[in-house]
Amino acid sequence: MADILAQIKSKIASIINADSYKTWIEPVRFSNYTNGRCTLVVPNRFFKDWISENFEQILVSLFRDATNEEVKIEYILEKEGGVENKKGSVVKKPPSYYTAFNPKYTFENFVVGASNQFANAACLAVATNPGKTYNPLFVYGGVGLGKTHLLNAIANFLIKHKIISVDRICYITAEAFTNELINAIRLGFEKIEEFRSRFRKMDVLLIDDIQFIAGKERTQEEFFHTFNTLYDNMKQIVVTSDKFPRDIENFEERLRSRFEWGLIADIQSPDIETRVAILNKKAEIEKINLPLDVAFFIASNAEDSVRYLEGALIRIGAYSSLNNVPITIDLAKDVIGHIIREKKKEVTVDSIIKEVTSYFSIKISDIKSTKRMRSIMIPRQVAMYLTRKLTDLSLVSIGERFGGKNHATIIHSIHKIEEEIKTKKELKEIVEKIETRIKST
Ligand code: ADP
Ligand code: MG
Repeated sequence: MADILAQIKSKIASIINADSYKTWIEPVRFSNYTNGRCTLVVPNRFFKDWISENFEQILVSLFRDATNEEVKIEYILEKEGGVENKKGSVVKKPPSYYTAFNPKYTFENFVVGASNQFANAACLAVATNPGKTYNPLFVYGGVGLGKTHLLNAIANFLIKHKIISVDRICYITAEAFTNELINAIRLGFEKIEEFRSRFRKMDVLLIDDIQFIAGKERTQEEFFHTFNTLYDNMKQIVVTSDKFPRDIENFEERLRSRFEWGLIADIQSPDIETRVAILNKKAEIEKINLPLDVAFFIASNAEDSVRYLEGALIRIGAYSSLNNVPITIDLAKDVIGHIIREKKKEVTVDSIIKEVTSYFSIKISDIKSTKRMRSIMIPRQVAMYLTRKLTDLSLVSIGERFGGKNHATIIHSIHKIEEEIKTKKELKEIVEKIETRIKST
């Protein structure tokens, strides 16, 4: 049976990438096989969890191929004396908060572009030097832009380079953190203590989607104390959120201010080149043969969210391989046509300027001028803001199209409108009205 396991391992080696194999499969050892039960020895609970989630089905089917038997897989942990104590130490279900990292979410697999470069660099710095560079690190950005990916990349990097051992790294969503806490509270004092000490003995704590604990006072309280303990001991804390700390509502001020002690890095929507690069990378990982024109087609038609792009690619890839047809733009249209943004007339800078000037009754030449009266500045800023929002133009090209303004002016204008529409309802309505007009012309 040990031989069979060796064969099975080498089969797995041929289907997953070398790093994942080395990290997860190589350390697995055979213990015994009786009555259709195959017991494997794994380094710790974390492995058990990861393998049973990701590999159990594959293992079972490979065992079936090799033995013609339906094998049930069980695990014992090396750490808990599993090797010596072969009987009776079959592992109980691990606590649910022990979420496995996704081995595919690595820095190598993360495509870096202007929109995420800063966040990527910050995460990499933290992974290289946990607790010593930016602590805490707060990463924020919209849905599907790579926050969870980067958080997992930190964990994978730490493990791969043996910087921190796997049982001293905790990746958990704020939701799971909350659920665990609720459970502990339900079960009484001892469990609460256990809950606390588990987190507090970590070297690296990665909390995903912290905005989830907004409005949950008890969870915030617990998190606050965990945070302080780890922080005081120079342990690394990384937190992601879909919002900037100040913009999370019902969030305790003391937590907010702690997040601001460290480094805050944002992730923006990727531009079209980065979207194409991401698609190419994913295609490479998934072994999908994706022609460049199709990549551009998907990238320019799907929404900004990378998750969305990925979904489109997977569907197209599956369709092509199941029907044994090559991937072409026509195929892509067939498969993702229903999710494609309705193809309105392309939004151009000219159409934006035209709608803005006509709404405010000013001249096109004024918009491109440097005049500083409010009646012209506001429309100009609105037009710049809408250009950034509705086109793929870079800040530099936007500057060129608005009479040769520099990059800083453009950023300032866009930011100004972004801020103002948060508080000024009338302005927000005006901008929305113009946006609708632009899109419908
Ligand atoms: P978020 O947590 O911000 O909602 P995720 O990290 O879950 O987003 O990302 C969604 C999907 O998009 C994941 O499969 C992730 O691998 C992928 N993704 C996001 N950004 C990138 C990138 N820059 N390069 C490669 N893949 C990316
Ligand atoms: Mg996420």
